[in-house]
Amino acid sequence: MPLLVRGDRVLTLDRELADGWVVVQDDRVAEVGTGRAPAGAAEGPRFAVLAPGFVDIHNHGGGGAAFGDGPEAAKVAREAHLRRGTTTVVASLVTESVEVLLEQVRSLRPLVGAGELGGIHLEGPWLSERWCGAHPPALLTDPDPADVAALADAAGDALVMVTLAPERDGALEATRLLVGRGVKVAVGHTDATYERTRAAVDAGATVATHLYNAARPLHHREPGPTLALLTDERVWVESIVDGLHQHDAVVRDTARRAGRRWVLVSDAMAAALADDGRYLLGRLEVQVLDGEARLVGEDGRPGAIAGSTLSLDRAVRTAVAAGVPLVEAVHAATAAPAAAMGWSDRGRVEPGLRADLVGLDDGLQVAGVMRAGAWLEP
Ligand SMILES: [Zn+2]
Repeated sequence: MPLLVRGDRVLTLDRELADGWVVVQDDRVAEVGTGRAPAGAAEGPRFAVLAPGFVDIHNHGGGGAAFGDGPEAAKVAREAHLRRGTTTVVASLVTESVEVLLEQVRSLRPLVGAGELGGIHLEGPWLSERWCGAHPPALLTDPDPADVAALADAAGDALVMVTLAPERDGALEATRLLVGRGVKVAVGHTDATYERTRAAVDAGATVATHLYNAARPLHHREPGPTLALLTDERVWVESIVDGLHQHDAVVRDTARRAGRRWVLVSDAMAAALADDGRYLLGRLEVQVLDGEARLVGEDGRPGAIAGSTLSLDRAVRTAVAAGVPLVEAVHAATAAPAAAMGWSDRGRVEPGLRADLVGLDDGLQVAGVMRAGAWLEP
């Protein structure tokens, strides 16, 4: 029997329906409307806000587990984020040796095939040493075409995105190779000039990895990657909106200028949705204090920001608190990331699409999660 789910506000792609409803049949959305609901559907719950399930395209882990630590850890991380409304998660791998990355990619590929993960994202090893953030500088390298092909072969369809620094030797060739295989290329952890970044986009790059963070800063005589990516209609722009990575004014400005190209990501590490303490991010040690993750410096003092402890529900709340309209924040956590990955079956509430829904209460806290037509057990 079809199920009726109601929302005081139902957010679809670009509309907000007051007193809206969604009819779910099996794993799909059958009908969406407002006011009087159709007869013949079982009455389900009503939420203050009903939105598409969140789509997180940059996420290293959560619930104490990292996607790089094998399939069992990946399931723990996925489950932790699913409980916060993330119905599709891309498993991001931090910089490692190509041998280790090959192993990690092979171990995650079946989970992507089974639909448990949205795909695999390689963040490194082809990044800037200068803007390495929480990636071990000694492992950063130029993209060797044989390595690029080996990783793409090992991952197959499971590889959905690669972040690279366009100024590295061979980066534009790697971009063309990856894009030719259907992989999205993201620009990040980069010291590229404005012109070099433009060349990467011309070569097929379509995503900005956490704009502003871990990149050559915007300067009025050398605007660098940030302005090149933010102003280019071909580029989806990621932001980590956790109240720490960026000033609220930058969040509002990015949301306004990127518009429908704005994508909220968690960039979460294992400590997301878990306790404070010591964690590993790839090979590097991270200390998490009050939810703030920082590398442990050689002197034992806190170093660079190392990923986040964010989940997308909190990113949406933080964006709204910073002054971004709710409809825009939800779009950036759902329809925009799905479109950035080329997925047409999710990220929106529309007849025929997968019934991935998140119900929020008045305070925008998650009150119910449905994935492919099935409620998550509380
Ligand atoms: Zn990063």
